[in-house]
Amino acid sequence: MTRRLTDKKLIVASHNPGKVREIADLIAPYDLEAISAAALNLEEPEETEPTFIGNALIKAHAAAKAAHLPALSDDSGLCVDALNGDPGVLSARWAGPSKDFALAMRNVNDRIGNSPNRNAHFVCALAIAWPDGHSETFEGKVAGCLVWPPRGALGFGYDPMFIPDGYDQTFGEMNPAQKHAMSHRARAFAKFVEACLD
Ligand code: IMP
Repeated sequence: MTRRLTDKKLIVASHNPGKVREIADLIAPYDLEAISAAALNLEEPEETEPTFIGNALIKAHAAAKAAHLPALSDDSGLCVDALNGDPGVLSARWAGPSKDFALAMRNVNDRIGNSPNRNAHFVCALAIAWPDGHSETFEGKVAGCLVWPPRGALGFGYDPMFIPDGYDQTFGEMNPAQKHAMSHRARAFAKFVEACLD
């Protein structure tokens, strides 16, 4: 039996402005006050686990303990078939310390090279942790393919090179409502809502 969220305040345990914006949009219909980890000056813990769920749990537990409130974290990334699932949990690190996603996208494209397989999927692991150490996790995925050159200036990260299956636009060209209708983050969030909020 999953634990329900009864508090009205929830820490969003991320320092990534793109993720915080998307999670805030997803939380908006619910009667919750979302407070970002950055607003509370919470430290970003090191992501040392080899899985999305593992790293999401590290972030949620660290924030819940520091803020004495339930905390929702997101660990996500792009998994490319031709690269055996890379960059995967290292998706943020491929952009380097300057968070240069033009460089990270070029690196992905260069490594795919002439491979005819340009399939990829995004994964989002959400973890909610309570100050007493309890936690729940949820995962969402969206499959698609990668285009070059990147298209669109909306979204964040690898969005401009990813077209979800069944669509013509990249995530970088879609408005937020379209992306929220089927993104990996929206799918994980729907599971969170069903288990902990509804
Ligand atoms: P982390 O979860 O903080 O390790 O970072 C995940 C990284 O994956 C982000 O910095 C983005 O580069 C990438 N990523 C995760 N979700 C998305 C998305 O919805 N669009 C584009 N890139 C994403």
